[in-house]
Amino acid sequence: MTHQNISEGLVVGIHYTLKNDGGEVLDTSEEREPLEYLHGAHNIVPGLEKALTDMAIGDEFDVVIEPEDGYGTRQEDATETLDKDRLPEDMLVFPGMQLTAQDQDGQIYAMWVSEVGDKEITVDFNHPLAGERLHFAGRIISLRDASDEEKTHGHVHGPGHAHE
Ligand code: ZN
Repeated sequence: MTHQNISEGLVVGIHYTLKNDGGEVLDTSEEREPLEYLHGAHNIVPGLEKALTDMAIGDEFDVVIEPEDGYGTRQEDATETLDKDRLPEDMLVFPGMQLTAQDQDGQIYAMWVSEVGDKEITVDFNHPLAGERLHFAGRIISLRDASDEEKTHGHVHGPGHAHE
């Protein structure tokens, strides 16, 4: 059995707990399956990807990531109001929900619903965790080579991810 260290093109399974600066738990994988991601494909925030590089199965991590290497700094005036008419009719919209849109140049960008009114919704282009310093702690659970298809797609295929 070869001993591998985390590098580009490997599928990495981790258990993690994410806390903010105040020590509040924002997310944890501990009661779910480990998170699997494709290393080097920007599936996770850059600061965490950097910190995990060269680690091996069983290694533990406890890192603090500045907003620039996390979900970005928070931009002011990055909200917009949209008519509900512009959304698909049967779409259930709720605060915190992520939407994606495409501009004329084909650029895809994400936004998050901040308010839902009768006729309009307000969206924020900041990630909900933009501006937050992130505290990630956890351990490496698994490592395997990505399939060629996974490398082409830039993400992991496996239980819970099925598509053509
Ligand atoms: Zn795919």
